[in-house]
Amino acid sequence: MSRSAHPAGPRHGDVLPEGHFTAPPADLNALDPRVWAQSVERGGEGAVAVGGLDVRALAEEFGTPAYVMDEGDFRARCRAWRDAFGPDADVFYAGKAFLSRAVVRWLHEEGLNLDVCSGGELATALAAGMPPERIALHGNNKSTEEIARAIEAGVGRIVLDSFQEIARVAHVARGLGRRQPVQIRVTVGVEAHTHEFIATAHEDQKFGLALAGGQAAEAVRRVLGLESLELTGIHSHIGSQIFDMAGFEVSARRVVGLLTEVRDEHGVELPEIDLGGGLGIAYTPEDDPREPHEIAKALGDIVTRECEAAGLAVPRLSVEPGRAIVGPTAFTLYEVGTLKELEGLRTYVSVDGGMSDNIRTALYDAEYTVALVSRSSEAEPMLSRVVGKHCESGDIVVRDAFLPADLAPGDLLAVPATGAYCRSMASNYNHALRPPVVAVRDGQAREIVRRETEEDLLRLDVG
Ligand SMILES: *Cc1c(COP(=O)(O)O)cnc(C)c1O
Repeated sequence: MSRSAHPAGPRHGDVLPEGHFTAPPADLNALDPRVWAQSVERGGEGAVAVGGLDVRALAEEFGTPAYVMDEGDFRARCRAWRDAFGPDADVFYAGKAFLSRAVVRWLHEEGLNLDVCSGGELATALAAGMPPERIALHGNNKSTEEIARAIEAGVGRIVLDSFQEIARVAHVARGLGRRQPVQIRVTVGVEAHTHEFIATAHEDQKFGLALAGGQAAEAVRRVLGLESLELTGIHSHIGSQIFDMAGFEVSARRVVGLLTEVRDEHGVELPEIDLGGGLGIAYTPEDDPREPHEIAKALGDIVTRECEAAGLAVPRLSVEPGRAIVGPTAFTLYEVGTLKELEGLRTYVSVDGGMSDNIRTALYDAEYTVALVSRSSEAEPMLSRVVGKHCESGDIVVRDAFLPADLAPGDLLAVPATGAYCRSMASNYNHALRPPVVAVRDGQAREIVRRETEEDLLRLDVG
């Protein structure tokens, strides 16, 4: 995550507030296309529109807070990934970033595959008609029931994450009279340059089987010895919100190294490798993500080069972007409720959501930007912190932001780049009702996930 202290510093107050901040942007009304969904624009009257629809009308119809998703942008990103990787590779969208039936249909229509990592995600994928052979099941502790449902449904791939799971999946497949295609998830020892909690390929964490020390090679031996498992390849996922391709290159090299060892030891050439997801997006204009075609070229080149050097046929490649597809396609629309100016520090702007609809700021120190979207303003920039309505002082949506000084209750704010890991990580803290996801496309808006109601909450409360 980028963190830059801008030399110009804040404009308001003599005492510098603690923490990090950037200088006010030259134009508070500008919407930087790096962080906003494709169809977002500020209209003539100053209000922002998405998919041709004014946010004030969306707030009126669907209420706030709401996640507003640009369906055209989602589909365009799917196509960009699919086209970049071409017919000799597979793009699996990581469903945990955000999953709903509509999203599954879009993926299906745009030719993507789907990663799921729980029974609930699998159920959603199947309910929306994703062909099972295009689904991969992940997870470091899949239950026997989840494994059985996946095998019965006929999922194309189960990614094995532990020795117990190898035995468990083999046992269930045997019981069902199936031979299940599987990959083995390995940890390649790369420290991805990202937040510790979302870096997953260094050795001291829960995912995968380590290449170092021979766990991964032992897993290959065991899987090859089991009739009910068909080992199709090796899987590596090195983390999330990564900008630097170097980690993927090391990962690709080490995975191909294992394929070479497997060929030498067993005389088997595994036909697939999966290099995972984790490609970063711009949360702020300072973030500089790679485009899908750059990623495809970098990964394709390294895999081809390493395989040629080892005398291996180039395996079929797959990748698993989640955030890079859905993240930039949505913003969260909030209404301002109260403002509190702390002299010499900043103004606290409270909105009608918070950590229940976006936990990433509290969980990962994630950075976001925010804009006034119900109107434009020529007022001076005001150093602000956008906070939620929950009973925690850590309930922060945007830690450091500049908003116009004439901001008032009733104004609408939007936080861009909230398509990934916001609705999917949303909670009912303080019995908040989780916001809807509103998809917009060509002047039409519809809820693809509706707002929760108090009846929804009370339905589970059976005491
Ligand atoms: C989370 C995850 C992904 C997707 O990560 P993004 O950062 O959303 O691209 C892909 N593969 C696996 C195995 C994951 O756990």
